[in-house]
Amino acid sequence: MGTSLTLTFLGGAQTVTGSKYLLTHRGNRRILVDAGMFQGQKKLREMNWQPFPTNPSSIHTIVLTHAHMDHVGYLPVLVAQGFSGQILATAGTIRLAGIVLRDAAHLQEMEARDARKGGYSKHANPRPLYTIADVERVLPLFREVNVHTDVDLGDGLVMRMWRAGHILGATSIRFRDTTTGNAVVFSGDLGRLEHPVLVDREVPQGAPTVLIESTYGDREHPEPEIPHQEFADLVNRVIGRGGNVLIPAFAVDRTEVLLLTLQEMIEAGRIPADIPIWVNSPMGLAALDVYRDPAMAAEIDPRFKGREFINLPTLREARSMEASMALNCPDRPSIIISSSGMATGGRVVHHLAHMLGDERNGVVFTGFQAPGTRGRALVDGATELKMYGRYVPVRAEILQDREFSVHADASDLIDWLRGMSPTPTVVHCVHGEPDSARALAQRIREELGITAVVPSLGEVVRL
Ligand SMILES: [Zn+2]
Repeated sequence: MGTSLTLTFLGGAQTVTGSKYLLTHRGNRRILVDAGMFQGQKKLREMNWQPFPTNPSSIHTIVLTHAHMDHVGYLPVLVAQGFSGQILATAGTIRLAGIVLRDAAHLQEMEARDARKGGYSKHANPRPLYTIADVERVLPLFREVNVHTDVDLGDGLVMRMWRAGHILGATSIRFRDTTTGNAVVFSGDLGRLEHPVLVDREVPQGAPTVLIESTYGDREHPEPEIPHQEFADLVNRVIGRGGNVLIPAFAVDRTEVLLLTLQEMIEAGRIPADIPIWVNSPMGLAALDVYRDPAMAAEIDPRFKGREFINLPTLREARSMEASMALNCPDRPSIIISSSGMATGGRVVHHLAHMLGDERNGVVFTGFQAPGTRGRALVDGATELKMYGRYVPVRAEILQDREFSVHADASDLIDWLRGMSPTPTVVHCVHGEPDSARALAQRIREELGITAVVPSLGEVVRL
């Protein structure tokens, strides 16, 4: 094997967020795999403001695994700082990335404005990391790539994508130097063996070096006989006492999976059929349109062929800000799905500010809650929470339903690696907090006999 490929870990190393991996080919061609934003703790968020370690204009191509913010949210910064190459991704990722990035810019502009007005920012002049105008400069650089198809990146470097079963359009990516035969696989974020809505994940062709996500590298997801029992119980309890159920949900994919779950619980008679179910997230509604688009049919689980996979008569869509505000005091007990999933921003924050103080209400978290987020504070039992510069008491019932994860658990990750041929030589455990990344590395060593390491931020390895 030659050492024609060098890898630099610029994010997603011992953290779940900020995924950015720089692949250098023959010392000059530079490919960035994912351009994620750091999220969660302040010291991580501040890294979004630091100078990028390499000149963005020297990067030839950016390749995206999927459209979550921690994989695409940094693109507008790179373009503003001089990146002008192509951004390669699947059609689904391109559609969703446009929605996610516009929403992020809008939120940042609003937050900067509110913080200036409210005077509660620690910064003298709070400003957004980027604006809608910055996002509009990113979108023309996208180029659609099909899965299972070789894409020539020049100088003998070829890439190919496989489905990752995580969110619509999500992929794992394999890069191969056709001269030396050396190759590297990036898992991207991996779904469970089966996704409730999407075509299931695939195992790419193997490579000597593999980067695997480790979000839940130290955990096994529950697989109860009756799915989502605690969730159903909470809905019945809360609605029964006249409260509202608030579900902070990642707008993309989680909203779809949630709606499908609620539909199945209603059809099985486990929760009342007449509860209004509001999707209060412009981004969530836009993403739902993408999932329902016939052009995306190849991504959707074949069991939904020929029919809409979400068919809820009680579904209500809050598109305007007025409709959203009205949901703070709905005229009858309701289920409200709103983003963001970790309550770091978005409409869900004003709902929390209104609803947390009332013990009749319930809040259900449906995904990973990064340290430093409001979501994490609530699932960890916070008794008060600061929002809009004020403390609000937490009296509502809080539940974290881990069954909703669209991330593989440790055994799912091991299964994915075990299915890989040829067998990897070195596996880098990325996209996980240090404990989960280390736990996964240990299992890979013990169960698969493969060298497994946890790279640190800024580390460079020759492949
Ligand atoms: Zn993801």
